[in-house]
Amino acid sequence: MRPIRTFNVSPSLPTKLEPLRTLAYNLYWDWNLETKDLFRRLDADLWESSRHNPVLMLGTISQERLQEVAEDEGFLAQMERASLQLEDYLKERTWYRKHRSQTLPALTTYRHVVEDNHRSAPECYAYFSAEFGLTDCLPIYSGGLGILAGDHLKSASDLGLPLVGVGLLYQEGYFAQYLNADGWQQERYPINDFYNMPIHLERDEHDRELRIEVEYPGRIVYARVWRVQVGTVPLYLLDTNIEPNNSYDHDITDELYGGDVDMRIDQELMLGVGGVKMLQALGYQPTVYHMNEGHSAFLALERMRSMVQESGLSFAEAWAVAKASQVFTTHTPVPAGIDLFAPDKVMHALGNRYAQIFGLSREEFLSLGRVKTGEFTESFSMAVLAIKMASFVNGVSQLHGHVSRQMFQPLWPDLPLDEVPITSITNGVHGRSCAAKAMQDLYSRYLGPQWAEAAAHRSLWAKASSIPDEELWRTHERCRLDLILFVRARLARMLRDRSASSHELLQAEEVLDPTALTIGFARRFATYKRATLFLRDLDRIRQIILGKPHHPLHNHNHSHNHNHKRNVQFVIAGKAHPKDIPGKELIREVIHFARTEGMHTHIVFIPDYDIHVARLMVAGCDVWLNTPRRPHEASGTSGMKAAMNGLPNLSIPDGWWDEADQIHTGWSIGQGEDYDDENYQDDVEADALYNLLEQEVVPLFYDRDEDDLPRKWIAKMKDTIRLNVPRFNTTRMVADYATQAYFPASDRSQNLTAQQFQPAKELAAWQNKLQTHWYNIRIEAVEVSESADVQVNQAIAVKAKLRLNGFTHQDVQVEMYQGPLDDQGNIVKGKPMAMNFEGKDEQGHCIFTGQVTYRTSGLQGFSLRILPHHENLGSPYDLGLILWAN
Ligand SMILES: *Cc1c(COP(=O)(O)O)cnc(C)c1O
Repeated sequence: MRPIRTFNVSPSLPTKLEPLRTLAYNLYWDWNLETKDLFRRLDADLWESSRHNPVLMLGTISQERLQEVAEDEGFLAQMERASLQLEDYLKERTWYRKHRSQTLPALTTYRHVVEDNHRSAPECYAYFSAEFGLTDCLPIYSGGLGILAGDHLKSASDLGLPLVGVGLLYQEGYFAQYLNADGWQQERYPINDFYNMPIHLERDEHDRELRIEVEYPGRIVYARVWRVQVGTVPLYLLDTNIEPNNSYDHDITDELYGGDVDMRIDQELMLGVGGVKMLQALGYQPTVYHMNEGHSAFLALERMRSMVQESGLSFAEAWAVAKASQVFTTHTPVPAGIDLFAPDKVMHALGNRYAQIFGLSREEFLSLGRVKTGEFTESFSMAVLAIKMASFVNGVSQLHGHVSRQMFQPLWPDLPLDEVPITSITNGVHGRSCAAKAMQDLYSRYLGPQWAEAAAHRSLWAKASSIPDEELWRTHERCRLDLILFVRARLARMLRDRSASSHELLQAEEVLDPTALTIGFARRFATYKRATLFLRDLDRIRQIILGKPHHPLHNHNHSHNHNHKRNVQFVIAGKAHPKDIPGKELIREVIHFARTEGMHTHIVFIPDYDIHVARLMVAGCDVWLNTPRRPHEASGTSGMKAAMNGLPNLSIPDGWWDEADQIHTGWSIGQGEDYDDENYQDDVEADALYNLLEQEVVPLFYDRDEDDLPRKWIAKMKDTIRLNVPRFNTTRMVADYATQAYFPASDRSQNLTAQQFQPAKELAAWQNKLQTHWYNIRIEAVEVSESADVQVNQAIAVKAKLRLNGFTHQDVQVEMYQGPLDDQGNIVKGKPMAMNFEGKDEQGHCIFTGQVTYRTSGLQGFSLRILPHHENLGSPYDLGLILWAN
């Protein structure tokens, strides 16, 4: 039955309780303990059953209960405190103001700006992502990429950045996982009920649903706009599930990473192109566009279209502006992780239209997404498009930055690997979102209540050493118990849903030992993550789990051993992509092992991994296990969340862990060796893992003093907090993005667009001249003061004579380039050093001089090169032009 009319019914609250509505609709409650507590206090059962959704809770709670709390002084006082905290939070975001004072209005206007969603701010950073993982009742994420995006918004809010998020609101979101009796993953797609979620429908000035229109081949697709308020940061989400879209178009925002390739292109078209149009409809004029992964890279095309059609720029001019203001973060270290589309499909979906507007041929258009311009069969890569459209590109850990430079080096064939302009900003996690409540209280007591705001200050975290051992340990043990109680309850619920026997139910209530060493492993079940590496030798892991030492030598009889059994237990969780059959097989392998004789109390798999499960696990386990095939883990963040709760990591040195202090904050499995034979690699690394467990992890955990405290283990926990927390958090990460990427890009963008784009036009004309006349530049002579034999630290004077033929010395950057030689005779890890312009000689040569010295002995190389230079160019490498002396 179709309704003849619909109503959006909102909760009816007693006047005194109105503040609850404001609190419920700002996701600040997700990382503010006082507010979360308040909602739990309102109705603990409903809080759990609503999946921690305060809006749904307020909509379904009984009027009696509301009347009751409206008279409860204690409740009202807590509500008042929570409201004040939100109010203060919204106006006290100062980092941005402090670090970017030059372009900011005075504080009073800034406050207004915050309340008006910074719509009128002098600058604005738009952050595009296909998924956002903010809180468990908003299931529009699949894994690490989404959580990172969610944490990015939260920290941007904490720092007071004028940032807005852009994404899609999925009707079905990512699937919920359950297992059949055989341990095979099944998927359920619960429908997201937008009207009962903490999101607002955006309306236009006539109070009508705000709508945008996006051109698709042969039709218009409409989308409406929802807003999630994340502290001070608004996140806008597009939703195509509306009339008069046809039924296919309804489904564009149906399922995260669902559908076939065509659907994928259509989704990315909505995200990129629709996202730009949406911001415009909302009144934003972003000065920076950040593409979090390549899914949103079509945004560049739409921005250029608007500049070409609405501001009369040429394609080259529009490209220069777009590039100057765009930032791209890549998240995959393997080519298979990149969206590649067949040329015909891209041309059909949007290429034909944009190529015509830009005045490009088919191949010219396709080359925007290709490494080799002349390679007509090459697929269209969203990552290549994003790189060509960005003036700041980064990977998400130092190692991943290196791998990305290798992967994309073909885009800069004349550049040495180290100088490929892809840098890295290592990921982080949002402290208040992933530290357990008990740990947060501990930090507030010993580090001060500002610990989260000062997340990146080493000196503050050094105070972790002053936390009394006993207190840290008891706090941690409580987290472990919380986890175990949760696991038992969830397993029992799952068994009840499957109508399991009462014997099985009883068993579920006894799993895990609240005092035993608990190893956590939770992440997507992608095969490269090797979730079952620890099951490589079943006999050996069984011995470890049962606490039977493999090497009796290491079972030294400590005088205060309290007869601990030395058991080890595993808590495992994670989803496999619905089409990833090998991933699902890994889950089943874990389940089957857990069912073997004597194992079921020691190894559990928690179904339906999500943010909530993750938060319990990263606090309640003792060690965080990570066994990816290096270097396939670009960063990984769950290990950082664990560190936030004091857990040491037991990990392959991949992603972020490769740059952590592996001696003090955990144990490294291997030293990052390369293997050609994967099977052999798995043998070696599983063996290394077992050795560490047997010889280091288990003995350290069970080494107790007369108070039954594992002092050395606790010391490792404190080192973990002291050394890892101040680095691997999103306060540091977002501050890095702001200072390294957003501020400069925003400046470039404002420079280029001033005076009706005059500087952009000049830049484009200059670039055009460079492209055609660059090869006329000549290095006529390089004079070096010394012969081939020099000593360490001896000054060598260098003089270069150049013919710039049509350019001036201000158009170029002349550099000496020096470094040791490898066995092929090439300079490796060369260092560039700028030369000074001295004037022209009688023959009209431009003379540049400089001085080099060598700090170390051996065979060292020297060269000289010329790069383009322009104040509005993002980097001298942007144009791919470089002239080396030969
Ligand atoms: C943190 C988190 C992830 C990412 O973990 P990795 O270690 O990067 O694999 C995935 N899913 C959820 C629910 C998380 O909380």
